[in-house]
Amino acid sequence: MNALMQSNALLISKLLEHAARHHPDVEIVSHVNAQQCERTNWRQVAQRAARLASALQARGIQPGARVATLAWNTHRHLELYYAVSGIGAVLHTVNPRLFPDQIGYIVNHAADDLLFFDLGFAPLLAQVAPHLKSVKAFVALCSRAELPALDLPGPLLSYEGLVAEAEPLAQWPELDENTASSLCYTSGTTGNPKGVLYSHRSTVLHSWAACAADGLQLRAHDSVLLAVPMFHVNAWGIPYASAMCGAKLVLPGPDLGGERLFTLMRDERCTFSLGVPTVWLGFFQHAEKLDAATRAELCLERVVVGGSAAPRAVIEKFEHLFGAYVIQAWGMTETSPLATICNLLPRHEGIPLEERFDVQVRQGRAIFGVEIAVFDAEGRRLPDGSHTPGELKVRGPWVVSAYYGQEPGASLDADGWFDTGDVALIDKDGYVQITDRSKDVIKSGGEWISSIDLENLAVGHPKVKEAAVIGAYHSKWQERPLLIVVPNEGAQLTSEEILGFMQDRVARWWMPDDVVFVDELPHTATGKLQKTRLREQFRGHRLPTDVPGG
Ligand code: AMP
Repeated sequence: MNALMQSNALLISKLLEHAARHHPDVEIVSHVNAQQCERTNWRQVAQRAARLASALQARGIQPGARVATLAWNTHRHLELYYAVSGIGAVLHTVNPRLFPDQIGYIVNHAADDLLFFDLGFAPLLAQVAPHLKSVKAFVALCSRAELPALDLPGPLLSYEGLVAEAEPLAQWPELDENTASSLCYTSGTTGNPKGVLYSHRSTVLHSWAACAADGLQLRAHDSVLLAVPMFHVNAWGIPYASAMCGAKLVLPGPDLGGERLFTLMRDERCTFSLGVPTVWLGFFQHAEKLDAATRAELCLERVVVGGSAAPRAVIEKFEHLFGAYVIQAWGMTETSPLATICNLLPRHEGIPLEERFDVQVRQGRAIFGVEIAVFDAEGRRLPDGSHTPGELKVRGPWVVSAYYGQEPGASLDADGWFDTGDVALIDKDGYVQITDRSKDVIKSGGEWISSIDLENLAVGHPKVKEAAVIGAYHSKWQERPLLIVVPNEGAQLTSEEILGFMQDRVARWWMPDDVVFVDELPHTATGKLQKTRLREQFRGHRLPTDVPGG
């Protein structure tokens, strides 16, 4: 028997209509660049998105067409999120930190029709544009007067010109909720990037998870500093979820430096922020220099840390310096990205802070909508609470089924699971602990050592700015951990000091066999440690413990 309830499609345009109707005056603060700050609100975002949508249609953008952006977090990028998807086209947010030939590859692979870009990316675009095969016109995110002189293989338009020339769309089209809405490519440390194609339905369901109390608790009360780029998995879904609940958005533009983030948090009374650990390490480089009275000017309540493991030191500093709670979240481009979120259970009420941090360093519990399971090398499902880490798999309505260009289901096993490539433990309470990427795990004499655990431990040393651990060749054990450390500016740090700090906090056989100091570590376009490059760099490294005949 069919139910007798309405089955209105879950559409991205409905999020915007809701925000414009119920939270019209809630501000969107946009730092276009260091000189220019625009203040707008949900009403105006909706109005301008409706104008842009009809301008796109007038320029021949059909349902299903791909529209690329090379852009920072600004109000214009936000309008594009809604205008492009709202007419059934697909927003392809390109990561500008990729190498130019990777950018060329993904724009051609996606066959983007239009490319919108921030003026700061003009030099990058000039380099890439001659290799683009499908782009019919380029749109600079600026006014007509600001249009740069650029030699491009197609017309150059101004964003404000497009918005001004069009009559607003009278009504957003009623699309099928399974229509593709946006496209993100995984940064892929090896091989070519792969596209993940989200739908209106997956995006709206994911937004509810962000707003749920045991999700990210996003709500109308919040002023959100979006320190995760809008080209990184749809800024973790926050541009959509903020419209759903009517939160204020603070869009920082290109500058994610510690001082700028602190100033924005203070001036815009931010209660909530999100970013990758590297952003927060930079934030504390600044924040730790401030006196208590200045720090007390913030009213930060929650900070989401994800994209890489949240170092314990970051969790502790947010608590001790700002009284802010770190919500660690785990996910990936393929999971929209929210999959597990670290909130507390009733039994954690009133536990000592140190014990609470022990919980917060984990990646959290599955939110409804995402099923998680860990499997051993033979494909057997491991029970929660098992002490052996295994391959983490996920499934659910906002998890990828196949990469762009493949047949539906091509990325799933026979039971519909997507293999994340992460190695994890799930404890009895259902908290996930990511121990490694499967290719980064250190295999020492048949046992696994978690590079992430060692890195987090090393970063806990007050003189350490950043740390990486890779497996270095050992003739007896196959691999042993090599610790690579970036000390804090001006700090004098010795191997003995850092190893001494670690030794009581980790199993003896996990202790790194050697320490090297470097000025910086290589990162991927989304701020993750680039272990492939480190492994190449230290391929010939001779461990002092690897003595002939030892
Ligand atoms: P991306 O698709 O670029 O967002 O990368 C996803 C990958 O980042 C995951 O498969 C994990 O390896 C890693 N990752 C994301 N969040 C976390 C986290 N909280 N802790 C540890 N690793 C994470």
